[in-house]
Amino acid sequence: MHYENMELYRGLQYPFGRKANPPAGEPQKIAEGVYWVRFPMPMSLDHINLWLLEDGDGWTVVDTCLALPEAREIWESLFDGFMGGKPITRVICTHMHPDHVGLAGWLCERFGCDLWMSRAEYLMCRSLVADTGRAAPQAALDFYRRAGYTDEQLEHYKKRFGFFGKAVSPLPDRYRRLSDLETLVIGGRYWQLMEGSGHSPEHICLYCPALKLLISGDQVLPRITPNVSVFPTEPEGDPLKVWLRTSARLRERLPEDLLVLPSHEAPFVGLHTRLSQLLEGHKNDLNALFDYLEEPRRAVDCFPPLFNREIDGGSLGLATGETLAHLNCLLWRRRIRRTEDEDGIYWYVQEPDTVAPADGFLAH
Ligand SMILES: [Zn+2]
Ligand SMILES: [Zn+2]
Repeated sequence: MHYENMELYRGLQYPFGRKANPPAGEPQKIAEGVYWVRFPMPMSLDHINLWLLEDGDGWTVVDTCLALPEAREIWESLFDGFMGGKPITRVICTHMHPDHVGLAGWLCERFGCDLWMSRAEYLMCRSLVADTGRAAPQAALDFYRRAGYTDEQLEHYKKRFGFFGKAVSPLPDRYRRLSDLETLVIGGRYWQLMEGSGHSPEHICLYCPALKLLISGDQVLPRITPNVSVFPTEPEGDPLKVWLRTSARLRERLPEDLLVLPSHEAPFVGLHTRLSQLLEGHKNDLNALFDYLEEPRRAVDCFPPLFNREIDGGSLGLATGETLAHLNCLLWRRRIRRTEDEDGIYWYVQEPDTVAPADGFLAH
């Protein structure tokens, strides 16, 4: 295919331009039977890319956008227009975040088709949706107090608790399971499933060798670093370890010359380059954080080496989760230690007795 808007930036090639911004709801052809459609979202990450795959007498769709009236309207216009009245026969969700899964239940019900997701994503999504309407649990308040939240910040957290389910239409009560390395036949072509983890528990990417395409979801994004966070349900978790491990595995398993179709921002070529940049970025963050812990600090004190922007009320939750992901990673590598003070707050400091293996970060 010849690309008119090819742009090179930081080692990646963007065939549609780096800031390609196709009109909302107007599908762009990516390859035979594969279409990119952008849905706007009312937040700082102001869009999501969804993928429409021609599949015999119907359509397979990958990801669905938030359960908002505006997104439903775009879907309606696609059903009547571009999709030519052919039904959706399969809804695939790369992972359980509301921008991806939001309208899955609505689409499945409307077309009487199945939802296809990995098991951990489906079950985790159902449990988070079930939290909507509950009061914030004590375990979550303890978690953020230990991280160093003030009373006022805890109040804010309580008010926002249960937000997850507000933009997710009720999920179907059954699903079809997607697993690592299995293949689906979509539109007469094989698509192999590639699992990643760390951004979400069991994230699925879809790889089509014949078309040289990778639908990468949020596991690999061209500009933003995928969020990797520790959450109150698993306070001692080490999601960064699995993110590093599964991202390095994607780099080993997949060829470089793919067109990567990410959920946010523009399609690009340069999978290995991008994965290496992301892996290197986390390694640098871990080292910078380690250096910063020459003296004891709380999680909320640790933003400066990790974020080059001011952390305010709106970004505090995400920043705390990401900081804890880096702290837990260092903790599990025995590079730092953690103590609890009399107010129940955690303090982290370099572990003087351990010599970390040089450059051992990817050696899991
Ligand atoms: Zn996500
Ligand atoms: Zn996303």
